[in-house]
Amino acid sequence: MRVHAIETSRVQIKEAQIIGRGHGLWRQLQPMLSREWADWSPVYAFAIEHPDGVIVVDTGANAGLKSLPRWHPYFQLAVRFDIEPEQEIGPQLRRLGIGARDVKTVVLTHFHIDHDGGLSHFPHSRILASDDEIARACGLRGALLGYLPNRWPNWFAPEALAFERTRHGPFNQSARITAAGDVIAVPTPGHTPRHLSVIVRDGEQDIMLAGDASYLETTMLSGTIDGVSPDEAAAKATLADIRSFCAQRPTIYLPAHDPQSAARLDARRSVTAPHAAFLPHNSSEASRAPAASASSFAHMIEGCTRRT
Ligand SMILES: [Zn+2]
Repeated sequence: MRVHAIETSRVQIKEAQIIGRGHGLWRQLQPMLSREWADWSPVYAFAIEHPDGVIVVDTGANAGLKSLPRWHPYFQLAVRFDIEPEQEIGPQLRRLGIGARDVKTVVLTHFHIDHDGGLSHFPHSRILASDDEIARACGLRGALLGYLPNRWPNWFAPEALAFERTRHGPFNQSARITAAGDVIAVPTPGHTPRHLSVIVRDGEQDIMLAGDASYLETTMLSGTIDGVSPDEAAAKATLADIRSFCAQRPTIYLPAHDPQSAARLDARRSVTAPHAAFLPHNSSEASRAPAASASSFAHMIEGCTRRT
């Protein structure tokens, strides 16, 4: 399998979003109230060249994100995009020799605008996500929470990934993306309540495509949650699970906005956690899990408010 890190855009957010400050509502307001912008960060999507067909994990940003709804305080105060159309994932995949029909499956870690922004490039693909994530992103509630459901393609009908109660290391559920079980999804709640990550079993190493489970490898290792996670305890528990997982198997950890993600993938550099040897070992695997069944949740889409 070959995994490509595709930088679809750059995004600028506040330091207080990358490293949460304080607790509760105060922490969640800081990305808007703070004036301290972080350096520009990459917006990565990933493509896995698998024998079953190409799997894309997250679709990155699109050039339309340079214009965001001004009524929303987060969009007005806390985020800026730098992207041109040729940087979107579709043109970049074509430059790698991967056409839209080669992409059999798209998995979304969550529906934030810099993860679902490239959906329009995949009209022929099966699109998978966590069940509750789509419901959260829909309609007026979704818009208030900072999603842009009105910009989804008209044909957009994602399928809910059915997580089995089959442990995968420290993760208490898993879902196969491929029949062989060499690409699986695990729940990594925190940044959003049903955020997921994708694990690619590639020989002796695993590659964890972590979405926004943390913005950086360093904040995962230190257990530092971000400034937008609605549930601090869930986010902390997920970061602890990821550290435990990385201690059990050599794992290349690739968040969507870590400036070091592409270099780590190129160098095949696993997480080196000094405390790894002291974490409990759990050898349970997902090898007995059946292929994930996915039920359409198009009915949820129909309930969405479209304002195109
Ligand atoms: Zn996000």
